[in-house]
Amino acid sequence: MRRIDEVSERGYHGAMKIAIDTHTHSVASGHAFSTVEELARGARRNGLKGFVLTDHGPALEGGTHRYHFSNLRVLPLKIRGVRLYRGVEANVMDREGRLDLDPYYLEKLDFVMAGMHELCLAPGSQEENTQALVAALANPYVDAISHPGNPSYPVDKRRVVMAAREFHKALEINDSSFRIRKGSDAPCLEIAKLCAELGVRVCCGSDAHWSGDVGRLDGARAMLAAARMPLELVVNATKASFEGYLEERRVRLSRIPASG
Ligand SMILES: [Zn+2]
Ligand SMILES: [Zn+2]
Repeated sequence: MRRIDEVSERGYHGAMKIAIDTHTHSVASGHAFSTVEELARGARRNGLKGFVLTDHGPALEGGTHRYHFSNLRVLPLKIRGVRLYRGVEANVMDREGRLDLDPYYLEKLDFVMAGMHELCLAPGSQEENTQALVAALANPYVDAISHPGNPSYPVDKRRVVMAAREFHKALEINDSSFRIRKGSDAPCLEIAKLCAELGVRVCCGSDAHWSGDVGRLDGARAMLAAARMPLELVVNATKASFEGYLEERRVRLSRIPASG
């Protein structure tokens, strides 16, 4: 298995270690193959300081029940010496950016990603896909958009990047896209370059569906190098930078007026 520091030793320009993997799935997602403990072991083996458990939102067939998300509190903060952050990869359900998880659950999490998946939202026109992501970015409970460069959902990349800037959110560089979502390289690089140019933050996620892939970020790191991404724009480069980003979430949520 390739360790993450072996990749940096290969000498990419601006090679960057990533301390926290912001995108992992456990058996709870229904189509992933490792337990939380196995993911933690994989994270440790691959040299991470922590990982975010981002099982799919409940609308994805065969996946998590919404109670999964309120019950994440039973998990310890550290497993096998690795920090576990509680998260979700929520599904964007429509062009208005509606998610498949209510604020009641979202507010309990450390990190919320939102993304478009075929089983929940059929790909629309470029305008429709763009509207959906811009609306999701405006949602105060959302911290990042997963795989925004997915070629199945063409978007106006500049508008999405500008929306991330307006709402102080991150866009993901999804490592598995380079292997699984064919045709991702060019749109992802374009988004990464726009982020670097416009000062928009990114997070690097493996999208691991198996413990051995936690922290598998060589493709994402190569893309950071190709886009000449400044270190300070990578929210999960260090544990401190990631926790700073999570603190921004807590401040943002504290400003939401109580309903009722
Ligand atoms: Zn996804
Ligand atoms: Zn995923």
